[in-house]
Amino acid sequence: ATPNDRKSVTVLGATGSIGTSTLDVLARHPERYRVHALTACTRREALRDQCLIHHPAVAVLAHEQDAAWLRDELGRVGVTTEVRSGEHALQEVAESSDVDVVMAAIVGAAGLLPTLAAVRAGKRVLLANKEALVMSGALFMDEVARHDAILLPIDSEHNAIYQCLPPGHRGRLAEIGVTQLLLTASGGPFRGWDAARLTTVTPEQACAHPNWAMGRKISVDSATLMNKGLELIEACWLFDARPEQIQVVVHPQSVIHSMASYSDGSVLAQLGNPDMRTPIAYGLAWPERIAAGVERLDLFSVARLDFEAPDEVAFPCLRLAREAMAAGGTAPALMNAANEVAVKAFLTGGVGFTRIPEIIESVLDACDVKAADELDVILAEDARARRVAERQLAR
Ligand code: NAD
Ligand code: MG
Repeated sequence: ATPNDRKSVTVLGATGSIGTSTLDVLARHPERYRVHALTACTRREALRDQCLIHHPAVAVLAHEQDAAWLRDELGRVGVTTEVRSGEHALQEVAESSDVDVVMAAIVGAAGLLPTLAAVRAGKRVLLANKEALVMSGALFMDEVARHDAILLPIDSEHNAIYQCLPPGHRGRLAEIGVTQLLLTASGGPFRGWDAARLTTVTPEQACAHPNWAMGRKISVDSATLMNKGLELIEACWLFDARPEQIQVVVHPQSVIHSMASYSDGSVLAQLGNPDMRTPIAYGLAWPERIAAGVERLDLFSVARLDFEAPDEVAFPCLRLAREAMAAGGTAPALMNAANEVAVKAFLTGGVGFTRIPEIIESVLDACDVKAADELDVILAEDARARRVAERQLAR
C-alpha cells in the first residue's frame, strides 16, 4: 500500500481506555492507517501527549480554554494540528470527507450525536459507545442502512457474536439457523455477593474489575450488571434479535467473549485473552486480520472455563434492562439516562451502590414511554429522566 491508500481514522474519546487501546493498535500499522482527529473532554495533557506522537490533522477538546492551552503547547514545538472545541467540532471530525473510519469511544449519551454524524456520513463506524445504540436503537440502525455505513461492534461480546455469524446475518438469524445468542458476563467484582453485603460497596471496589481495566462508568456498570443489561439491548439492535433469544451466561474467566447457538446443535464461540485490542483490530481491518499486540491465549494456563446463571435478585439491573427493552420506545433511553446520573452520584456523591437500581426503577416508574423514532424526542426524554433522577437523589 502507498501512503495515500492509508485509511484515515478519527478517534472520538481518544484519551479513554478504548481510545488509548485504539491508538496502540493504529501505531502498530502506520502503513495502513493515519490519524485524522483525536478528541477528549477535559484531559488536555493526555491529548497533548497523543498529538505529539500521532500528529493528527485535528484535535478537539470540550472547552475553548483547554483548546487555547493545547494550541499554545503544540505551536511551541511546531506541531501543526488544528485545535478546536465544542460539540460542533466533534460532529465535524466524525463526518469529515477526510475520514474513512470513526472509532466511537466517548462514554455515555454524550457520544450519541457525533456517532450518529459518522453514521450519516456513511463511515466505517467502530462502535464502542453502547449507550448511543441503547438510547436510539431503531433510529440508529435505520440510519446505518440508509447511509450505507459499515457498523462494526467493538464491545467484546458483540464483536465475538459478529465473528460467530456469517456475513449478511442482520435480520436473517432464523434463516441462517441461529437459535440463540449467548452473551457472556464476567459477573463483575461482586459475583456471589448478596444484597446486604452489596450495600457496603465503595467506588474503589467497584472500579477494580477482575479481568478488564476500563473507564470508571463502565466499571460500575459491570459491577451492577447494568453493563450486561445495556449489552442485551445493544445485541437486540445489532443482530435484530428478540430479548428472549439472548441468554446471559456468567463466565468468570472472560476467555469466551460470547457465542452463537445454531439449530443443528453447534455452538460457535470466540475466545481470546481479555484485551480490547482484539475487537478493535478486528473492526479496523475487517474483513482482514491484523496484529493487535495481544498475548497468545494459552489454554493450559486458563485450565478451566466455568459457567453459571446471573443472580438477578442481588443485581436487579439486568431485569430492568430486559423490561425496558420489552417496553420499547424511549424506555431504554430513560433507563440509560437514569443509570448515568445514578452512577455519577455513586462515584462522586456518596450514594450507595444498591441505590443505583432503585433510582433507575423509580425513574422508569415515573416517566411514561414515548415512541423513539425522532432524535429530538429521545434527547428530550434523556433530559427528563436526568431531572427525575436528580430529584430522587435529592430526597
Ligand atoms: P473512559 O472513561 O476511559 O473514556 C471516555 C472518553 O470519552 C474519554 O476520552 C473522554 O475524554 C471522553 N468523554 C467523556 N465525556 C465526554 C463528553 N461529555 N464529551 C466529549 N467527550 C467525552 O471510557 P472507556 O472505558 O474507554 O469507554 C468508552 C465507551 O466504550 C463506553 O461507552 C463504554 O461503555 C464502551 N466500552 C468500553 C470498554 C472498555 O474495555 N473500556 C469495553 C466495551 C465497551
Ligand atoms: Mg462488553
